Amino acid sequence: MTKIVVAVKYVPDATADRTFSADNTVDRVGVDGLLSELDEYAVEQALQIIEAGEGEVTVLTVGPEQAADAVRKALQMGAHAGVHVQDDAIHGSDAFATSLVLAKAIEKLDYDLVVFGMASTDAGMGVVPTLVAERLGLPAVTFASEITVEGDTVTIRRDGDVATQDIEASGKLVLSVTDQTGEARYPSFKGIMAAKKKDVQQWTLADLDVDAGSVGLDAAWTKVESFEPRPPRTAGEIVTDEGDGGAKLVEFLASKKFV
Ligand SMILES: Cc1cc2nc3c(=O)[nH]c(=O)nc-3n(C[C@H](O)[C@H](O)[C@H](O)COP(=O)(O)OP(=O)(O)OC[C@H]3O[C@@H](n4cnc5c(N)ncnc54)[C@H](O)[C@@H]3O)c2cc1C
Repeated sequence: MTKIVVAVKYVPDATADRTFSADNTVDRVGVDGLLSELDEYAVEQALQIIEAGEGEVTVLTVGPEQAADAVRKALQMGAHAGVHVQDDAIHGSDAFATSLVLAKAIEKLDYDLVVFGMASTDAGMGVVPTLVAERLGLPAVTFASEITVEGDTVTIRRDGDVATQDIEASGKLVLSVTDQTGEARYPSFKGIMAAKKKDVQQWTLADLDVDAGSVGLDAAWTKVESFEPRPPRTAGEIVTDEGDGGAKLVEFLASKKFV
């Protein structure tokens, strides 16, 4: 029986209007959000692992009230239970603080394997899985494009720019998966109905024994000082070919130092 925790992030919808709040933090409340698409692959892989044997998948999110939507979507896909860590003090947390809250929550759960997406689709740092592994003192096998599980041994393929690595680890471990692992399933009607009855635990920082002073904007190592909307794209320069198009093109590229 394999017990898997999948960390899923609720992110602002990239196709909707996204903005910052008055304190220069990402507005996560006043915008439409959803389960980070890259985390759907993590849920999918966790479900495939337990479907090949037996086990349970618990999805874990740290985020505002609306982040419950991300948990619900994962439950509709087939995850068994959810945990939502929500606390006003978490607002403005950086990757270090997020990893602290996630690690403390994971410690409270019974698990064999922790699965992450490769990166969130908003901040996209791709660091949280490794930070959490460090905090938990576990091996991290990250950016898996293929996963094989035999007993308590996980073997992954990691595709780099110049080499493909086969990496193996055993025992409790942290795994992050890429979008190359295979399509994530859509929730079925049965899955949507079943999700309504699944258990979602609500935890605060106090439940995790995390000091509010170690998370949030004041504890963040970096802060956004200011921001301004990017100017709209201007019309490009049209080069009319009057027999000298090639020369004009080279002139243009040279002026931009491309050649
Ligand atoms: C409520 C809240 C408010 C925040 N406010 C701000 C803000 O205003 N400004 C700001 O710059 N940062 C803020 N953060 C932190 C930021 O959004 C990221 O969570 C943090 O920087 C992690 O970096 P990342 O998203 O690049 O993660 P990555 O390292 O790219 O994520 C990798 C994987 O880690 C997991 N993961 C990451 N975050 C979470 C999460 N929250 N819950 C569950 N799984 C997760 C997912 O599996 C994801 O695929 C906030 C975080 C939270 C929870």
